[in-house]
Amino acid sequence: MAIESQVSTPLGPPACEKDAKALEFIEEMTRNTDAVQERLLAEILSRNAETEYLRRFRLKGATDRDTFKANVPVVTYEDLQPEIQRIANGDRSPILSSHPISEFLTSSGTSAGERKLMPTIHEELDRRQKLYSLLMPVMNLYVPGLDKGKGLYFLFVKAETKTPGGLLARPVLTSYYRSEHFKTRPYDPYNVYTSPNEAILCVDSFQSMYTQMLCGLIMREEVLRVGAVFASGLLRAIRFLQLNWQQLAHDISTGTLNPKITEPSLREVISKLVKPNTQLSEFITKECSEDNWEGIITRIWPNTKFLDVIVTGAMAQYIPTLDYYSAGLPLSCTMYASSECYFGLNLKPMSTPSEVTYTIMPNMAYFEFLPHEPNAPALSRDSPPRLVDLADVEVGKEYELIITTYAGLNRYRVGDILQVTGFYNAAPQFRFIRRKNVLLSIDSDKTDEAELQKAIENATALIKEFNTSVVEYTSYADTKSIPGHYVIYWELLVKDPANSPTDDVLNQCCLAMEESLNTVYRQGRVADNSIGPLEIRVVKNGTFEELMDYAISRGASINQYKVPRCVNFTPIMELLDSRVVSVHFSPAAPHWTPERRR
Ligand code: AMP
Repeated sequence: MAIESQVSTPLGPPACEKDAKALEFIEEMTRNTDAVQERLLAEILSRNAETEYLRRFRLKGATDRDTFKANVPVVTYEDLQPEIQRIANGDRSPILSSHPISEFLTSSGTSAGERKLMPTIHEELDRRQKLYSLLMPVMNLYVPGLDKGKGLYFLFVKAETKTPGGLLARPVLTSYYRSEHFKTRPYDPYNVYTSPNEAILCVDSFQSMYTQMLCGLIMREEVLRVGAVFASGLLRAIRFLQLNWQQLAHDISTGTLNPKITEPSLREVISKLVKPNTQLSEFITKECSEDNWEGIITRIWPNTKFLDVIVTGAMAQYIPTLDYYSAGLPLSCTMYASSECYFGLNLKPMSTPSEVTYTIMPNMAYFEFLPHEPNAPALSRDSPPRLVDLADVEVGKEYELIITTYAGLNRYRVGDILQVTGFYNAAPQFRFIRRKNVLLSIDSDKTDEAELQKAIENATALIKEFNTSVVEYTSYADTKSIPGHYVIYWELLVKDPANSPTDDVLNQCCLAMEESLNTVYRQGRVADNSIGPLEIRVVKNGTFEELMDYAISRGASINQYKVPRCVNFTPIMELLDSRVVSVHFSPAAPHWTPERRR
């Protein structure tokens, strides 16, 4: 509830003293967007003036926007790869940043099949922490009483590796959860989790999920919000409950802990929490043994006010399933962030997913915007693109996000396309439109057209000896099952029907495709269990011609018609599925190790 003595901020009456400060900070940043950006760029440029990278562009000590824009090129990860590789190999000279690179954050975006390595510096943790500290004060404006209970959040760490030069390489959230900022965070009644740190920090994904679910069940009546980072993660937790509720109910009934929980510090903490509770165990058994799991989240956690998961962008595909399991609880998307940099937050966290906008905070990095014109010619160094500043973007227009960070990314293309929906004070608010070049995505995997094409080529090598080729293909991210999986539709040309590829060969084609896909996909299949086996659906000859006829009947031009390499429009799916002649699944998991191959 709002505190009496506190003056209301323009965003609303703060719930407590701490919230008032956070809301004031948001006001200050959003009112002074342009000045903050100008100052921040000057700070980055003066601090990194002597880096090898910036020296190349002869800024001669200038720290203003015009000189910066006129001299420093817009780049992609591939452009920076040589510098990043040198840092990874152990070169400690100031190449990109004057402050030492403290570790690499492994993005779910890939380059040549491997995760991108994003350089970061120690102080970035403070910047991320600052953004996190703004989320609850905003949420408290919309949902009162969150200090009266807990949040059941399924949070996980992932495998870490070291680069040849000895720097850690790990996902940004793993880095954050392992930091002192997270582990020794001060008690905040508005932000209490059911999961102990030991459960979140356990690298074994089964033990981590099991204990987090167990704690969530034990504290079921205290739970006021349920969440995960992305929608796919929360659905994986529901699937986990479907598969493991008997053992969980057994632990609760007997007050013992599943022997599969072997991590000593985790066992110690969780054992203290599990007490025999027959009533709770019977309740879980009754609810979970029902065939109908509709509304299971609200049945088990009846005081849940909202689900806190990102459902914008690729995650929008999970909204119907989340609605089903939660009986339509509000979905809250609180922030927009990446391994390169955390960007901003949603100032109206209870808005419906289609209306979600993110306000980029001008203190996080220097932001520029490349007007997104799908048919514009590729960028060239001779005709530099006109980039717009954060305060100058126009409502209704779409832009590609370009960032300059303290850690040494200069005018770096993130690959996200955003649309301006309006302003809060002088800060623009953006709808996340999509990530460029992503065809298929189930969890954090992102597969582009070139990767899919390569995977198809590799798989078709197996059917060559049967005198068979793939004449056309398309794909679909099937998220109806949990975990979701890739479906590839193939139309085959079988030249020798007496010797056509066997079922087994086509199953092997599924695996060959998986082996060719990038490391994030394979990690999802092998380590995280967040992606199911790839499926090939062989369709009747002539199906893709029918697909073209359908598109033309709806107004596509015959001359310009291209087979869509990914589909999700219901009539097209129905057409394809009605022509399926055989279905094949990958018979095994592809290879994956945390180590990089390059
Ligand atoms: P990563 O580099 O693996 O951390 O992934 C970061 C990317 O995830 C961003 O560049 C976006 O494409 C996507 N992403 C992050 N937050 C959101 C969000 N709130 N809504 C939609 N997409 C998001």
